[in-house]
Amino acid sequence: MPVSGSEIVKMLPGKKPCKECGFPTCFAFAMKLASGGATVDKCPYVSDETKAKLLDLLAPPIKLVTIGSGEDAVKIGNEEVVYRHEKTFVHSPGIALLISDQEGEAKIEEKIKKIKELQFPWVGVNLKADLLALYFRSGDRNKFLALVKKVYEATDLGMVLISEDMDALFDARDICADRHPLLYPITKDNLDEAITKIQARPTPVGIRGRSVEELVPLTTKLKEAGIEEIVLDPGSKNLMEAVRDQTFIRKAALKQGFRPLGYPTIAFPCFLAKDGLREITVGSAFINKWASIIVFSDFDQYSLLPLLVQRLNIYTDPRFPMAVEEKYYEVGEPDEYSPVLVTSNWALTYFLVSSAVEATKVPAYVCVKDAEGLGVLTGWAAGKFGGDSVGAFIKKCGIADRVKHRKLVIPGKVARIKGELEDALNLEWEIVVGPKETTGIGAFLPGFAKQLKG
Ligand code: SF4
Repeated sequence: MPVSGSEIVKMLPGKKPCKECGFPTCFAFAMKLASGGATVDKCPYVSDETKAKLLDLLAPPIKLVTIGSGEDAVKIGNEEVVYRHEKTFVHSPGIALLISDQEGEAKIEEKIKKIKELQFPWVGVNLKADLLALYFRSGDRNKFLALVKKVYEATDLGMVLISEDMDALFDARDICADRHPLLYPITKDNLDEAITKIQARPTPVGIRGRSVEELVPLTTKLKEAGIEEIVLDPGSKNLMEAVRDQTFIRKAALKQGFRPLGYPTIAFPCFLAKDGLREITVGSAFINKWASIIVFSDFDQYSLLPLLVQRLNIYTDPRFPMAVEEKYYEVGEPDEYSPVLVTSNWALTYFLVSSAVEATKVPAYVCVKDAEGLGVLTGWAAGKFGGDSVGAFIKKCGIADRVKHRKLVIPGKVARIKGELEDALNLEWEIVVGPKETTGIGAFLPGFAKQLKG
């Protein structure tokens, strides 16, 4: 539950109107703090004690936790709303593949290979699973540590380390501490022992209770010990309990502002379901119902892709159309006589144009102009794809350095920008009106490319 400006102003010194924070009154500053547009340190008169209270009140209701490092880091939490239609979900759940140390060498190799290779380019984004969950099950500590070492050396992925044996868990952590692994499970029985070890080398921890209520004293104690990268497992025993518990945690954090439950969650379809199809279905429910890490015992391209697309759909911000980056893209291996086409950055437009170009087997450059995620015609109607702005983009994007000719193909739907675009480019480029529909690219491009080469 976000704190309001009127609540914050009661905690400010009220030295009006000193304005040292850059705002005309304490109230204006408080309103800005509440909306996230200012930071507490701008007021020099707030005591350290009040500052700490304010920072706590202004912190996101669900803590941000990072597992992994570098480009493969998975960020979870920081959510602001219970339902996506209220605003947007922020960090999509990490999908993890479980590897047990009881599995044979060949199976382990196969799973490592699988998580590396199962990647699906999808309209400008790369869909893939994110984490490996390594499970100490054999009872042989050395075997588990060898598995952790193998995975650490074979991939750059973040890891979830699962072990009921505390010594094995922390020895495994020491192998891959720089990868910021999630340690699981910390419970009420091993909490005291774990706190000292976590403090010595901070890393995220997954706590497991036998109910939502049991999690509360655990998170409170961890927070008092300065440990806040926490992931919750309420110990649900079936899907119905899991949905109930996930809902309870989410609403307690976001609607009631209950800090002890303000952390992301982990779910284990791999342990809740008995067969592969049911496991994928349970995992799919967790994508909808707020789990932040979802662990599967196995998947293949046919089960993983639908989960990834479902995740993409739910975690795409509904307030903005999907868009690709503004720049020129190469299709095939274009050279200095290859065609140059321009289009807008709505992801679907880019995908259709680049696919149509690819199908012709004519290497080309596709210059994608930022139209705030709108299609070509809608972008033009909204003033985002006019001759002036397209011209400015062509000048700055660097395409002139890549080709010797000066012919630019614009979509036939916006033939009307031709004159304005020629002027914007100081008549240095000849503007060629291309087909009205992307389906026409197949008939147009090969002949046009031949003219350029000739
Ligand atoms: Fe109020 Fe502090 Fe801003 Fe002064 S600096 S106006 S005391 S909030």
